[in-house]
Order: sequence, then structure tokens, then C-alpha cells
Amino acid sequence: MAVIGIDLGTTNSLGAYWKDGMVHWIPMEDDRFLLPSVVGYVEGEGFLVGTAAKERMVPYSEDTAASFKRFMGTAKEYHLGGKTYTPMELSAMVLERIKRNAEFFLKEEIEEAVITVPAYFNDKQRSDTKKAAQIAGLKADRLINEPSAAALAYRREYGEEDRTLLVFDFGGGTLDLSYVECFDNVIEIIAVAGDNHLGGDDIDQAVSEYFCRENGLREDELPKEDRAKLKKLSESAKCALAEKEDVTMELETGGRICRALLNEERLFEICMPLFGKIRQLFVHILEDADSRVSGIDDLIMVGGSSKLGVVKRFLRELLGKEPIVLGETDRVVACGAGIYAGIRQRREEIRDMLLTDVCPFTLGIGVNNKANRDKNIMNPMIERNSTLPASHKDRFVTVGDYQKEIRIRIYQGEEYYVDDNVFLGELTIEVALKPAGQAWVDVQFTYDINGILHVMAENEMGERRQILLANQTLSETELERYTRELEKIMLPPIQKPENQKMLACFLDYYENSTGQRRETIAAMTGWIMAGLNSGRKKAVRNAEEAGKMWLADLQRSTDMREEFLFDGELKAGYGGMFDDFDETAEDERDEESGGFGDGSGDGFEIETDEE
Ligand code: ADP
Ligand code: MG
Repeated sequence: MAVIGIDLGTTNSLGAYWKDGMVHWIPMEDDRFLLPSVVGYVEGEGFLVGTAAKERMVPYSEDTAASFKRFMGTAKEYHLGGKTYTPMELSAMVLERIKRNAEFFLKEEIEEAVITVPAYFNDKQRSDTKKAAQIAGLKADRLINEPSAAALAYRREYGEEDRTLLVFDFGGGTLDLSYVECFDNVIEIIAVAGDNHLGGDDIDQAVSEYFCRENGLREDELPKEDRAKLKKLSESAKCALAEKEDVTMELETGGRICRALLNEERLFEICMPLFGKIRQLFVHILEDADSRVSGIDDLIMVGGSSKLGVVKRFLRELLGKEPIVLGETDRVVACGAGIYAGIRQRREEIRDMLLTDVCPFTLGIGVNNKANRDKNIMNPMIERNSTLPASHKDRFVTVGDYQKEIRIRIYQGEEYYVDDNVFLGELTIEVALKPAGQAWVDVQFTYDINGILHVMAENEMGERRQILLANQTLSETELERYTRELEKIMLPPIQKPENQKMLACFLDYYENSTGQRRETIAAMTGWIMAGLNSGRKKAVRNAEEAGKMWLADLQRSTDMREEFLFDGELKAGYGGMFDDFDETAEDERDEESGGFGDGSGDGFEIETDEE
């Protein structure tokens, strides 16, 4: 049983695993490794996950869900095909797809995954991520923070020297900063800061607004379809700046063609308000880490948006140092997850790496507010950025005379009033009957390395009550219901059981043949695989039909050959199809619909790719 690492991203997800001392990627769609975190519903058929769903985003925006990770842990609902889905269920579909691809690729069952989450994810978001994994049939006991994963990847590249890192992870929907200290075999997260609503999507939005300004348009007045087109246009213009000096954006709307020019200078200006927010986050994290810019040895750039030249320039100017780029910025987190998957499996070479983490939010309980009795205030028990495991004990007294019990309400967050923080759970304990302020309970908070919060209360009579939080899993019935839903996800054609069986037959024939026959079978197999992977309905159907037909031919010729071996006569026609099939036929296939069948005239078309 293998353990894989998964970067479950807002925009893209990736899977990785550890083998022979290094990280490998799990192919998602053909030879691409990034799987767009997009789910789409196809009327009457089922769900699509990945590029196929992303491509339907413009024409079928109603039935497509994207960026749902931004709402993980909330009650937000997505309507697809007349039913509602939570961000957790949609994430489960993405995870399930990665698991299945990994099993397909590694040819073994995957039961466990190390999943990365933004450092700023709260307990609800983390526990929903675990539940999503559970729905997808994956055990995910250990979630690691995305920047911690990046630090792991850095460590493998740059060695074991003592360093202080600042990990800058700028993705599609989130920005995470982590102040990390590496010494000996320890990676310690000293502080985290971030914004769950600041990422490449916001840059796209700023570019769209710029485009509208330039053309006197109002974005909210554009037809829905044009708005979606503009969004796509903005993203591709932004990405194109990696290779070009300037890009002309062009959109036809309301019967006219609108244009705007985008270059680095312009983009820099457009991003100014976002850069302002980023600067604030640097102030925040340096203060929390009790450090200064000079205390940072290396700035590591992570995430797809870190590919932007303007972001690099901004950071260079802000910090006065050259940022470090570890290969493809959008794969660094998955790389760390892959390394950690290796640690989980106790692979010798990396077993000794230690990863410590911090509590991303303050945890505390609500206490009475003398100034305003209606609004309880937060009494912090474990401050944010405490190193895990962390534990703290405090004594609380009654506020009412002869009060019978104390209700301990547990919250997470930085706000003064508890109502503005996230409520996690509560427990109630009896207290001694005494005048106000004289009866007491001791409350202890313990936050362990797996992000599980244990709260225990003990009264003066020595009685105890306790509660475990952030470790909720789904009940059997819930799990069953979700699993039924997952079955509606459409398999990529090549992974359908019947096509798998068909390909296995071809490989069998290949194994048992030699010479020309063997080459022909190899060519057929390659052609069928290409068709099944083409992502185009017609080509898939052609591949399936041709496969069936050729298998029947192969069977027939095998039977004939066997008959001959047992002294029957070798009938004319044996191997005939193989004589016809040669590589030169390939070029003709696109024009002729006949292809390289058995000449029965029952041909099939091969679509040419004109895009
Ligand atoms: P997430 O971690 O949120 O899933 P990624 O790290 O994959 O996201 O980053 C996705 C973001 O990166 C998107 O906003 C995308 O537009 C942006 N991006 C990807 N490639 C480039 C590029 N070449 N230039 C600029 N931005 C890019
Ligand atoms: Mg990411």
C-alpha cells in the first residue's frame, strides 16, 4: 500500500509520491500533472473533474464549480444538476480523481494521503478536508501546512545548513507567508500569516477592471457569457507576460470590439493595491516572529502566481534580496507533500526529518464581559503561532451566586468578541454551590501535532469533563451517502473497466507475438490509447470501436494459427490485416475514413486536431 502526497489547491491540485530517493509526479490528464480543481456536471451523464470541467466553465457556468476551496469549512452550497454540494463534497471528487489516477498509474491501492492545506486554514476547514479525504476513500491523518511542505522541498534542494526562510506561497486564491527556521534535522514554523482571499484570481479581477476602465465598460453590466470570457482573457493575458513584453487583450461585446494593452509596467500599477496588502502581511509576520527583514536568509517563492515577473520585482524591491525559485513554483508544495508521504512510509533516507508546526489561530474560551453582559469576550488559552504540541491551563470562577454549573464555550480566532470568532464546541461542568467568584474550575487546552484540540475542565470536587475537537469524521451513513454520489463521476475513457480490459488483451497479444505482427499490435495499441486520451467524443468512440474490431481479428487469426499448428490447413487470409497495416497508413488516416481496418469497408473516422 502506497502513501501519496496531495496538494489540494484552490485552482490546481497535484499528486506526488516518493520512490528511490526522490519525488515523482502522478500524471493527471495525458502527460499533465496539474489537475484543475474544477467540477462540472453533464446533464444526464455525471460529473467531470479537471480540464474537461474547466473548459465547460464558460458555456456551462451554471453547472460548473471552481475555487470551492475558498469556502471550505463554510455552509456555502453549489448547485450542480439540480442538487446541492458543499465545498467538502466537491473537494472529495477532486481527491477521488487523484487517488484513482495514482492507483491507475502506480498499479497499487492507495489508502493514505498526506494532504496540504493553507497555513491559515482554521479547524473547521481542516476537519472538512479530512472528511473530504474520507469520502474519497483516503486516510488523511496528517495534514501539513503548504509552506511547511515548501520548506521541506527547499531543504532537499539546499541541504541541511541552518537557515531562516520566508516562504511566500502565492496561488490562485490564497497567499500564505511562513517564517521558518531550519536547523539540524528540524523544520520549525515560527509564525504564519496570510490571506484566504488574495491570489491570482484577484489579479485577474484587477486586470478585468482595468480592461473595462480602458473601454468605458461596466463589468457588472456585461452579459454573463462575456464576463466569463473577460475573466479567461485577463488570466491568459497575465500569464502571457511571462514570455512576451506586451499583450493586446481583445473582447467582442455589445456589438463592438474592445481592446487594451497589457505590459509589465501596466500590470505593476494594476497590482499596486494588492501589493499594499502583501506588504501589510510582511509587517504582520515579522512582528509575530519578532524579527526583521535582515533576519531572513532566503525568500522562497511558491505557487503559480509567483511566476509573475511583477511579483518578483515587488518582493525584490520590498526586501532588497533576490527571491529563490525552486523549479516550477506551482509544484513545490506537492513536492513537499511527496517527501512527507515518504516520511509517512518510513522510507530510510528521509526518516529523520522532523517537522514542527504552529497553531494558526488563537484558541480560547468565552468569558463574561463586565462592560456588556450580552457580549462575551475571548479569553485566549493558546495564542496563535504557539509551537505544537501546546498546552495551557487556567482557573475560572463563577459570575453568579450559587451558580450550579459553568458552560465552557470554545472559540478560535483573533477577535475581541467571541461572536466574531469561530465557535468550535462546548462542555458543561457542575461547580460547588458558593457565592459569585468563589467556586472555580480549572480548564486545560492541549493542541497536539495533528491539530486535534483536547479541552478538559476539572472542578474543585475533582470531577472532570472533556471534549476532543477538530477530529470529527463522518458517520457510516453519511459516508455511504457521499460515496454513492461519487459513483456518478465520469471515468476518463481510458480508465473505464471495459477499455482497461481491452487494452490488457492487446498487451497479451503483444507479449505472445513476434516480428511484424508484434509491431502492428504495438501500433494499434498506441493508436487506441491516443484516441481514448484525446478528450474528444468522436475520437474516443472510434478508438473503442476499432479496438473491438481489431481484437476480434486478432482472435480469429490466432485461432487459425493454432489450427494450423495442430496440422490443419493455414487458410488464406491469416495475418492478412497485418500485411496491410504499416506506419505509412498513418498519414492517410486523417483524410480517408477507412483507416486500417480489415478492408470490410466498415471504417471509422479519425478526427484531425485543428486547434
Ligand atoms: P493554487 O495553489 O491556488 O491551487 P496554483 O499555485 O496552481 O494555485 O496557482 C494558480 C494561479 O497561478 C492562477 O491564478 C494562475 O492564473 C496563476 N498562474 C499560473 N501560471 C502563471 C504564469 N505563467 N504567470 C502568471 N500567473 C500564473
Ligand atoms: Mg497552492
